[in-house]
Amino acid sequence: MAQDKVTKESVQKEAERNKRHKVRMERKKKIIDSAIEKSDKSKGLMLVLTGNGKGKSSSAFGMVARSLGHGMKVGVCQFIKSRTDTGEEAFFSSHEKMDWHVLGDGFTWNTQDRTQDIETSENGWKVAQSMLQDPSYDLVVLDELTYLLNYNYLDQDSVLDDIQNRPFDQHVVVTGRGADEYLVDLADTVSEIADVKHAYRAGFKAQSGIDL
Ligand code: ATP
Ligand code: MG
Repeated sequence: MAQDKVTKESVQKEAERNKRHKVRMERKKKIIDSAIEKSDKSKGLMLVLTGNGKGKSSSAFGMVARSLGHGMKVGVCQFIKSRTDTGEEAFFSSHEKMDWHVLGDGFTWNTQDRTQDIETSENGWKVAQSMLQDPSYDLVVLDELTYLLNYNYLDQDSVLDDIQNRPFDQHVVVTGRGADEYLVDLADTVSEIADVKHAYRAGFKAQSGIDL
């Protein structure tokens, strides 16, 4: 009998909890719907993905996949990196709406040659510039651009001008650690990925599919 009473009480409690949850969710839906209704503007966005954690370039490639899925034309400029055996390149580069450029010479501590780094960066930027001036590109990814700016391999003002003066509807994604304030100011969306833990520090080498 006692157990019956407890069960009835708990059933009633559960029903009340469900009712309260429904009221809360109705209220939340109203707020979200009204926010969505207000956010009806559209333009080419600038995104910056920065921070020391893993996930900046792979997030950019996620947006590449989304864009190609919508039939959009995408340009990717990979600065710094010189390897052309990555999974992303193997997967995306042959897509008919994809224009993929590996424009790096390797990391600056590998090249150890500032003059060469500057020349490589300037030549790479010409490729980026041509995309940023071409309205047929719906999305342009400037992968690892922050390093070229932070080492002063490229002139910050002219890079910002080129990004700012791109076609109105063109999205641009900049990745790399240490994004400076001026990039953040110019961007519409900025994510800083924190380095909580990385397998590398436990002795695991870069894994195909995860890191490259
Ligand atoms: P990903 O391309 O995996 O999204 P990322 O763009 O955020 O990484 P980068 O600084 O470009 O990071 O480094 C690329 C490579 O370095 C990847 O193999 C990645 O796993 C590795 N890496 C990224 N962050 C760290 C970290 N905090 N410690 C060690 N290795 C890292
Ligand atoms: Mg990266």
